[in-house]
Amino acid sequence: MAEFRWSQLASSQDGLFELSRRVVGRGAYQGLTFHEIEARSIISKAPPSTPWFGYSINAYRGCSHSCTYCFARPTHEYLGFNMGNDFDNQIVVKTNAVELVRAETEPGRWSGDMIAMGTNTDPYQAAEGKYKLTKGIIEVLAERANDFSILTKSPLVLRDIDLIADASRTSKVSVSFSVATLDEDVWRRTEPGAPHPRKRLDALARLRAAGIPGGVMVAPLLPGISDRPDQVAAVKSAAKESGAEWVNEVKLHLRGVRPHFMNWLAADSPDLVASYETMYPPRRPKKQKPTSESDDNQLRFILA
Ligand code: SF4
Repeated sequence: MAEFRWSQLASSQDGLFELSRRVVGRGAYQGLTFHEIEARSIISKAPPSTPWFGYSINAYRGCSHSCTYCFARPTHEYLGFNMGNDFDNQIVVKTNAVELVRAETEPGRWSGDMIAMGTNTDPYQAAEGKYKLTKGIIEVLAERANDFSILTKSPLVLRDIDLIADASRTSKVSVSFSVATLDEDVWRRTEPGAPHPRKRLDALARLRAAGIPGGVMVAPLLPGISDRPDQVAAVKSAAKESGAEWVNEVKLHLRGVRPHFMNWLAADSPDLVASYETMYPPRRPKKQKPTSESDDNQLRFILA
């Protein structure tokens, strides 16, 4: 079991949050461990490297959808977990997320900017069935008439369809589904914990029928695995049939997840390793300040 870095931080006066409880999942949540924490803040300002959204909320850390290519994986390492199985199974739950959103979006305190959900973890991953934090956050944003967007791979979003439809009448709201492939074999290999892509498109069709703006991100296109023109055309065509208002292709960016992805690739498709080594050469390690203060600042951004 990983050593929890936050347990040390929480004991200091400047603790980022409190670790309150560890819950072993049972039944539908078998195989997952939930680390319930009290976060100090919840709305994050996006770094300049992600100009397509200004602010984001991530009520969970880690993601049971377990996509091999997920660029959020390395963030788990700041918590003392690994970016492999721990990212898939050790889910950090910010149990006070709804209260924090309510406090941080109080009139006079908040600018009213659009808030994105699904930037670093899926807001409708399995944990949401148990904790309902995304639902609570949407309720608050709807009360505030605050614009928001959702990016997910899960039809669990349909549980909140009435709420989202109501919110979309007073605010700018959108739901995007990430559908990288309709190829069953590729889906099982690359997104082993995520719902079937056809179920995502069925969910999109229901949201669109309810008048909710929605579209599809064909993301990411994996060279030699899911980027053949006929594969991409199949996703785009099915997305349009489901009523997608936008269908955007997104190339694969490995960034810090490269070591994990390349290990997976070597086991899954060894014949592709050489071409990926050329397309995605290792990055030079960044210089890091050797102080605990820099670690704390990094944690502050990741966990907020
Ligand atoms: S659903 Fe999104 S956040 Fe979750 S593992 Fe897949 S890419 Fe990462």
